[in-house]
Amino acid sequence: MPEVSVALLPGDGIGPEVVAEARRVVDAIAPDHGLSIGWHEHLVGGASIDAHGTALTDDVLEACAGSDAVLLGAVGGPNWDTTDPDEPRPEQGLLGLRSGLGLFANLRPVRPWPALYEASPLRRERIEGTDLLVVRELTGGLYFGERGREPDRAFDTCVYTREEVRRLAEWGFRAAAGRRGRVTSVDKANVLETSRLWREEVVRVAEGHPGVALEHMLVDNAAMQLVSRPADFDVIITENLFGDVLSDEAAMITGSIGMLPSASLAAGSLGLYEPVHGSAPDIAGRGVANPVATVLSAAMMLRYSLGAPEAADRLEGAVDAVLGAGHRTPDLGGALGTREVGDLILAQLAG
Ligand code: NAD
Repeated sequence: MPEVSVALLPGDGIGPEVVAEARRVVDAIAPDHGLSIGWHEHLVGGASIDAHGTALTDDVLEACAGSDAVLLGAVGGPNWDTTDPDEPRPEQGLLGLRSGLGLFANLRPVRPWPALYEASPLRRERIEGTDLLVVRELTGGLYFGERGREPDRAFDTCVYTREEVRRLAEWGFRAAAGRRGRVTSVDKANVLETSRLWREEVVRVAEGHPGVALEHMLVDNAAMQLVSRPADFDVIITENLFGDVLSDEAAMITGSIGMLPSASLAAGSLGLYEPVHGSAPDIAGRGVANPVATVLSAAMMLRYSLGAPEAADRLEGAVDAVLGAGHRTPDLGGALGTREVGDLILAQLAG
């Protein structure tokens, strides 16, 4: 059986707790799908700052670049909070991975489970039927533009090239073609020049996908529509900062941020997979974190980077069955621990 290599970056806070469960369930099914997985664990984020003084070492970046996929927990926590621009910060590890690996498209599916409709802060009739995918540009915009700081003044710059918009939009249209055939491009074209360029380029890409319907939406309106009629969205494409905010807003539709997986893809098959949530310092070390987002991220890894879509389907099916049977961690109103949920998913896979 050929071995695939996965770089495992547990990170900080609840990261190691949730990643451990994802690893267990993937190991349990991999052989059935012709996969032998070599896990190679590395430090990232605060853990790496403590050990090496930087959130991402060159060695770790190189190891990730040479892997078939990267599975990450979360980074950050109060130990490393600082406003001093000269101090290392955990999220520099994430930004370094995104730019260093060329991960330009971030995919966040949002599909509330019928069994959890009541856990959502939105009324059931609003969220029923929601099945959307946020495709966020990840390596451009404000997060990577020129920035500066003076005693009483600071600035960040938003820059996009046509090529950055084109490759992201292409991904969104291709994804929509395999789904319900609708793309909503979110921008702020009434104010921002980068948004006007974004819109022009998206229209150009749309011409190559006549089977996919395109609508443009201003980001402030999109923020409202996402909570008032989420089921009407199919694929949302947007730039880095808007995508960051909108995907967290969309996250609430599911009732818990502990449920949402994500994939960040490069041009080839390499991808980085991580839960949408952070390191949750308020519950870290207590064994109560919901591991589902990380398990579902591992399913996306099986699908997009490891060429095992049937293993991904099986894992998602096992999670559905466990939730459907009423098993919940505290964030969903239940009392189960992280490990117990992992055990239940394993039992479901074995049965
Ligand atoms: P967070 O996602 O860590 O936590 C927000 C809330 O959701 C908390 O109440 C937390 O307990 C809960 N929560 C999150 N994941 C959960 C899970 N799996 N199961 C149960 N409950 C869960 O966001 P935050 O509090 O804003 O940030 C905490 C730290 O994480 C900060 O240092 C931040 O920088 C970092 N962060 C990292 C990432 C990442 O690694 N991708 C993303 C967001 C925040």
